[in-house]
Amino acid sequence: MTRSNPDSCPGVLRLHQAADGPLARIRLPGGRLEPGQLQVLAQAAAELGDGNIELTSRGNVQLRQMHDAAALSERLAGAGLLPSRTHERVRNIVASPLSGRIGGLSDVHGLVPVLDAGLQAAERLAELPGRVLFTLDDGRGDISGLGGDIGVHATGADEFALVLAGRDTGIRISPADAVQVMLAAAHGFLDLGSGQWRLQEVDDGARRVIDLLGLSPGPDRLEFGAAQDIPIGWLDQDNGLVSLGAAVRLGALPARTAEFIAAIEHPLFITPWRSLVITDLDEWPAEQVVRVLAPMGLIFDANSPWLQVSACAGRPGCAKSNTDVRADATAAVESGRAQSPPAPNPPAGDAEIGDPDQPLDSTTIDLADSGAAMDPARTIEIRSAEDVIVAGRQHWSGCERRCGRPRGPVTDIVATENGYRID
Ligand code: SF4
Repeated sequence: MTRSNPDSCPGVLRLHQAADGPLARIRLPGGRLEPGQLQVLAQAAAELGDGNIELTSRGNVQLRQMHDAAALSERLAGAGLLPSRTHERVRNIVASPLSGRIGGLSDVHGLVPVLDAGLQAAERLAELPGRVLFTLDDGRGDISGLGGDIGVHATGADEFALVLAGRDTGIRISPADAVQVMLAAAHGFLDLGSGQWRLQEVDDGARRVIDLLGLSPGPDRLEFGAAQDIPIGWLDQDNGLVSLGAAVRLGALPARTAEFIAAIEHPLFITPWRSLVITDLDEWPAEQVVRVLAPMGLIFDANSPWLQVSACAGRPGCAKSNTDVRADATAAVESGRAQSPPAPNPPAGDAEIGDPDQPLDSTTIDLADSGAAMDPARTIEIRSAEDVIVAGRQHWSGCERRCGRPRGPVTDIVATENGYRID
């Protein structure tokens, strides 16, 4: 299928007209946020929007009900969150959140601002679709399985694999060349003139870009899976300091909570799993942070059922939604019907349905590719929200598009006109 329209991904300067009002998406390359920037986002959410900061599946953030677009862009520009008016929507860069602090083969965070600057400096790259995703994985395998378009994956301290269309190309490059090769691949994607929004949608796209780059693949290929080990709780850094990983219920961070996080005055990262990591803390302050923020709803417990549950925007944010899926998902967690998985995690479609004892970045997934396609022989049963009991990772959707669905094994709970269907 060839796209006939340009992508409609929102930004700060091009808001999405959602059912509940204009929605702004703010790109955070590498998920990095300075405390002062979080404070600005919190104030914008509280004073101009609906009071929440939504974390997206690409480590970006969204603000809803943004009726004063001029005030928003002025505030964000002042905080360094709108460094380019021409390239703002193409700065989709995710990187291993813990890189350089805990494990990993190489620190990829140093490459993020270089890649971001290179994107902004190339006038033509403003033509990239807002869906194109750049990935930098420090070798731990948390990012390369997210299905990006152009990326690198550390294979050692001084070597990266070039990743195109979510797969290892077999090409190995040095850290010094990594950014230039990714930028050249971005130009190559445009050179193909496919009209597609993603490199993975282009027939033989990765090989054709490799040909344009004039690079030769080697024989070895890494396989990437969708990792689900969200960094949660107390995380000892290699340098003796502490990071704290915290999940956010359904990815909606209240502005008031965000202000408390900003007041910690430490760098933080928004992860692609709708969570955040507060870094570089000493032990005693880290303990106090948990004491203050856990009662405010931040989740530091890796066994929390909230880690199993995601949901699209649903009503009232999306006109296509059959119901308020976020309210129903919340009720399922709070009543104990959304349950932690038995170990090991069940494969897709095998979650224990009915057993007593899993914002939207507007990423519409390819259901066939994700393993979410329904088995035509399977009986379709419609349940009321109160009768949905699912163990393990689950994604609640207001309609068949299943926006924001995580990759990997996930049970789909899809709202229909008559109730929920569990796929
Ligand atoms: S899955 Fe459907 S209801 Fe949910 S946000 Fe996407 S289009 Fe809207």
